[in-house]
Amino acid sequence: MRSKREPGVQVKTQPQLAFMWEAGQVVAAALQAAAEAAAPGVSTADLDAVASARIAAAGAIPSFLGYHGFPATVCTCINDEIVHGIPSASRVLQEGDVISIDCGASVEGWHADAAVTVGVGVIPAEATKLIADCERALWQGLAAARAGARLSDISHAVERSARAAGAYGIVEDYVGHGIGSEMHMDPPVPNYGRPGRGPVLAEGMALAIEPLLVLGSPETRLLDDGWTVASEDGGWSAHFEHTVAITAAGPWVLTAFTGPPAGTVAAGQVIVGGAAPPGNRTRPDEEVVLHGQ
Ligand code: MG
Ligand code: MG
Repeated sequence: MRSKREPGVQVKTQPQLAFMWEAGQVVAAALQAAAEAAAPGVSTADLDAVASARIAAAGAIPSFLGYHGFPATVCTCINDEIVHGIPSASRVLQEGDVISIDCGASVEGWHADAAVTVGVGVIPAEATKLIADCERALWQGLAAARAGARLSDISHAVERSARAAGAYGIVEDYVGHGIGSEMHMDPPVPNYGRPGRGPVLAEGMALAIEPLLVLGSPETRLLDDGWTVASEDGGWSAHFEHTVAITAAGPWVLTAFTGPPAGTVAAGQVIVGGAAPPGNRTRPDEEVVLHGQ
């Protein structure tokens, strides 16, 4: 079913997707550890160190470190910061903050990219709802990443979910992307738009889907550090991201340990887990050979 693939969207082989899955599991572990470490008194540099140690222990390579000069392993964004925040020893989390952590890693040159948003202690109710609604919008988008669908079906699913959930700003200045032998590849994956447009999704493609929702206007501003993007009006933001591969059996979420989270999509709509692309296992004893084996 690869005859309809659009030129310009990289199609991965089975072993390449297995490397991306391996990278995805490292990213999931790094994000989980960093999110669990997020507490009052902890700096964003501390969270970076936690994620960095997990990636190093797994023998993977951090994708962000040195990317266009970015100086850290994760991006950390607090409250009204939206994306691309630089971890710092002087940014210390406080009770009631909301923090997003974004992380990428590669194995054998194959990348995975994901992000989570968590509250620090007790957070405002509207922030709790924002976080849940952003995560649901992501999983609705993931569930739309099916062979034969069009790219903008994903965008539409994200937007529909977000709009149904609340009067959120949906950031348009920053979008999801193709991913594989590089972290950022074609095609761009907006978090809004009409369905039925763009490339036809084909087996072996992989995408990073990443809604950015704001309590307020979706307009953004770049801070003086040249990296951190914040909301123009100070509204708090949430960011969730997963890397998903299109397979014969459905959307394979490479950067998740478990899922989908309760209240997002039905379990049968997405695939989580496994080391070989679902639906492509020809014999039980025929396993993808991973690096080092
Ligand atoms: Mg990311
Ligand atoms: Mg990304």
